[in-house]
Amino acid sequence: MMVTQAYRFALDPTPSQRRALASHAGAARFAWNWALATCNNRYEGEGKWWSGTELHRLWNVAKRNNPALGWWSENSKCVYQEAFRDLDRALQEFVRSRNGARKGPRLGFPRFKKRGRCRESFRFSTGAIRCGGRTVTLPRLGTISTHESTRKLARRLEKGAARILSATVSRTAHRWHVSFTVRVDRAVPTRHARPGSAVGIDLGVKTLLTAVDDQGKVIEITGPKALRAGLRKLRRLSKAHSRTQRGSANRVKAAERLARHHAQIAAMRADALHKATTSLAACYETIVVEDLHVTGMLANRRLARAVADAGLGQARRTLDYKTVWMGGRLVVADRWYPSSKTCSDCRRRKPSLTLSERTYHCDGCGLSLGRDINAARNLLSLAASGAESLNACGGDVRPGPAGHLPTKQESGAAHGVDETGTAAGLPAATWSNARKRSRSA
Ligand SMILES: [Zn+2]
Repeated sequence: MMVTQAYRFALDPTPSQRRALASHAGAARFAWNWALATCNNRYEGEGKWWSGTELHRLWNVAKRNNPALGWWSENSKCVYQEAFRDLDRALQEFVRSRNGARKGPRLGFPRFKKRGRCRESFRFSTGAIRCGGRTVTLPRLGTISTHESTRKLARRLEKGAARILSATVSRTAHRWHVSFTVRVDRAVPTRHARPGSAVGIDLGVKTLLTAVDDQGKVIEITGPKALRAGLRKLRRLSKAHSRTQRGSANRVKAAERLARHHAQIAAMRADALHKATTSLAACYETIVVEDLHVTGMLANRRLARAVADAGLGQARRTLDYKTVWMGGRLVVADRWYPSSKTCSDCRRRKPSLTLSERTYHCDGCGLSLGRDINAARNLLSLAASGAESLNACGGDVRPGPAGHLPTKQESGAAHGVDETGTAAGLPAATWSNARKRSRSA
């Protein structure tokens, strides 16, 4: 089965490469803004926009005739072209959203990007894009060292089992990353290795993930110790930031520290969740998770919850394709399914349950159980009840537009699944592999 997947690596650029990366990101931002202004001008007169190809032609004329744009050649020409394509796609999606042809929340009209406010990123889809064991080679930028091993992708490329479609470079806090969109030939089994097995998963803040399987075994993954310590530090840093004076140099420094720490925590969580979801997808044919609570996510302002919600979205996305690759399926519970409020034994439902109640006490049958375990058991029951009314996310992995592909993160960060976490639920073979990986990391 040919799948499109992403390989993302942290980069270790030299100071001059760092400047070149920033310059390319600036060029991409300039190209986007230039194209958007050009489209706006035409729209006012003619009521229509330019396409990506037309913009590219207009840009080629403009850059030759306008001496003020002479700096363009310092960056790869690819970067401008990709920015025009991005704007083209954004405009098309905006129209589709307005006409109701696009699912999800309504999209706004594309906006101008502001330096320091927008995401720094640019893309290559042609030219010399290569990946060695410890380096990546990009057009114009040359060979850049990576912060982690790229061996897995390099080997696939060598064997001819993978082909790079594009490379997107972006910055998160202090760190630059490259994300390759790769066409990979994957061996996908028609049947899961353990047919009939099922697991319900509840995602949380303190406990990264609580799962209950069809044998009644409980799997709790708390994540590495560094992650828990990191959450405490996050509180401290964000308080320190809010106490600095607006517009001061100290505020800029505090913001940098906070952003950097945020990125570190996100990476640790992502790594721990990736490891957990990989072993769960390998061990269970059917996996049941909650749906994202979009309105709840927008409403919440608490830091820890925001971090947890980000993890929830990530875990769902990764399970979406990992279950397919293992021959299993993902069942997503309805947004209003009361997984926390319902007693997993007698099905009696509580009218309300506060977040501080960590243990579920049932007034009907006297059940007393950890809140997350109770929720996971309720989710598991959906696997058995047949999933007609649910949104089964199995089937094929959709190749979305660039930047929205399922991410297979080859993280090299040395944060494993917590050794002290109870791992009773996972069959020995796979779990020991997961532990081995986390130890060797
Ligand atoms: Zn009960």
